[in-house]
Amino acid sequence: MNIPAHLSLCCVLAVFSLPASAEIDGNAIAASDQGGDWRAYGRSYSEQRFSPLKQINDGNVDQLKLDWYLDMPDSKALSATPLIVNGVMYFTASQSVVMAVDATNGKLLWRYDPEVIQRLIDKKPSRFNWGSNRGVAFWKGKVYVATFDGRLIALDADNGKEIWSTQTFPIGEPRYITGAPRAFNDMVIIGHGGAEAGAIRGYVTAYDALTGAQKWRTYIVPGNPADGYESEAMKMAAATWRGDWWIHGGGGTVWNSMTYDPTYNRVYLGTGNGAPWNQEVRSPGGGDNLFLCGILALDADTGEYVWHYQTTPGENWDYNDAMDIVMAELEWEGKPRKVLLHAPKNGFFYVLDRADGKLLGAEKFGKVTWAERVDLKTGRPVETPEARLPEGVGVVYPSFYGAHNWQAMSYNPDNGLSYIPYQEMGGEYDKRGIDRERWRADDFKFNTGFQPYRGDIGVADVNSALLAWDVKRQKPAWRVKLPGFWNGGTVTSAGNLVFQGTSGGRLHAYSADRGLPLWSFDAGVGISAPPVIYAVKGKQYIAILAGWGGVAYLGSTAFAQHGWTYGTHPRRLLVFSLDGKATPPPIKPPQTQLVLVDDSKQSIDEAQAAVGQDLYLSMCIGCHGMAVISAGGAPDLRASKLAANLDAFRQLLHTGALQSRGMPRFQELNPREMEQIYWFIRQRARESLAENATLTAVGAAGASSP
Ligand code: CA
Repeated sequence: MNIPAHLSLCCVLAVFSLPASAEIDGNAIAASDQGGDWRAYGRSYSEQRFSPLKQINDGNVDQLKLDWYLDMPDSKALSATPLIVNGVMYFTASQSVVMAVDATNGKLLWRYDPEVIQRLIDKKPSRFNWGSNRGVAFWKGKVYVATFDGRLIALDADNGKEIWSTQTFPIGEPRYITGAPRAFNDMVIIGHGGAEAGAIRGYVTAYDALTGAQKWRTYIVPGNPADGYESEAMKMAAATWRGDWWIHGGGGTVWNSMTYDPTYNRVYLGTGNGAPWNQEVRSPGGGDNLFLCGILALDADTGEYVWHYQTTPGENWDYNDAMDIVMAELEWEGKPRKVLLHAPKNGFFYVLDRADGKLLGAEKFGKVTWAERVDLKTGRPVETPEARLPEGVGVVYPSFYGAHNWQAMSYNPDNGLSYIPYQEMGGEYDKRGIDRERWRADDFKFNTGFQPYRGDIGVADVNSALLAWDVKRQKPAWRVKLPGFWNGGTVTSAGNLVFQGTSGGRLHAYSADRGLPLWSFDAGVGISAPPVIYAVKGKQYIAILAGWGGVAYLGSTAFAQHGWTYGTHPRRLLVFSLDGKATPPPIKPPQTQLVLVDDSKQSIDEAQAAVGQDLYLSMCIGCHGMAVISAGGAPDLRASKLAANLDAFRQLLHTGALQSRGMPRFQELNPREMEQIYWFIRQRARESLAENATLTAVGAAGASSP
């Protein structure tokens, strides 16, 4: 007998009652059937982002309607995966703010603000703060959030009251957290980012979930041999580095992917890129540079090394492995295997046996020019001659944005397909004129060991797609080409569906098996976060945080093309169901035509502008954008009347008057340097008008001519 999908769901819920939130432990998170909950970052420990719910399915998803929404007026970038436990949704807004709402109607239950910006007033770390946070962990009645400024905080799930808080690195070190913690075995683990922000050694730390006491800490790259090694694994890693690597920091930050495996009681870490990227600066003479850019398996209780697989030995391109690591069980060449699925930045889709880390398969899932293939016998990539820039400069695919970034991949065990937010762009790397002896990793400036990128990235330079990858056949099953770049993560379901939000601001549903477009909703702002699927009292929902951000804030035309200008488009939590009755909130159209500021009578001081460009590229680019083209992280300075008034501009940089709104203070800049940045902005405004005939400008009212 064929039972309608919605009936079977109701029956299941009627028979089994959900565990109370105090009972959400490892078994509850490992469970495939979570009774409608979404209890951990990747739903279950598998990190598959596969929901067994099928009340909403490929036969009725065209009826999906907005059920409720929540405006997020204090937020900019929204990247989080909401958790749903017992009818309550827990998620992070911008600046590591945690919110708990009734998952059936959005009613606010509590809000916890760790006051990140206030803590960073007058401190350099604020310069890398885009506000992104990818979410919380849940364990036995507590919610765990890791804040941008490095705290790991335990909250009472019932009321949001702080239970404990611990600083995971000293404020002032070039580290920051945007990732979601993971919970297992009465412990919570967290890493951090920062390999572009200074000379750091990445590490992860596990804390007692009840008390916050440190249980273990494991470094990803070796430090100065003179200080002794923390472990045999660090000694092994040190043999793969050359020169005085510890001066430059090493890198290997674990800023996103951490998968707990209850079968083997292990944690798999997706390790970060080198600090700096340029291996000739970091480790002159080469070497694999363990454990950068790979998967590191640790004993979950001790943090001790178990095995590693390095996807990109001797990394040189920012090819970190921070992309989610998915666990699956499938038949591989006739044998049942417990595997890891991983599609990192470098463009290969890896299948590993998770018992021992043995490589089973690795095929390109997009455009890749740094390597021809991966040799399955040695497990190593076969690099192309152009990969290491024999001419000193070159374009290599994928770019430092990766063929896939942190935006979550999902895996559907019903059909064996992985859904990858694929993106395509070539990265220009230029090592000409880099003097290793004089190169310095200045804290909280962009430190890549390459020449700063001076150009724009145009619309034609980028491509993207939703890619369904057939894991066993190791090739694409289907793809949907998407406009733009930097689309959101994916979720898939037993209802033969896959959902994804796009940089262009739409949430789409496709059939999981064939990629047929079945439904779409205009969110009114670019989407970077992944959707989640849950049910409460027998009713199924789809939720998405709509809020453009993250690395998109590095700007350029490719990111700015969508028109999500600073402060213009509301950020929202949107929740859909089959019988939703909410009136969709008003949206503002994309703003693609900026009015720039340019006084045509003013002559540009080209010499000062040239110096100002270097200052801008190391200190301002992160929020105001490449080529001074903002993609919404901060005002577009070409259109800013304040930036066109040198006195006001200097005053702002010096006093930090807008720190509470996220504009850092730049006290170390002298008046001359501020003027140089001013001239570079003026130059870029005028160049933009010359390059793009559709742009208009007004004169700089009140601008004082220096
Ligand atoms: Ca990086």
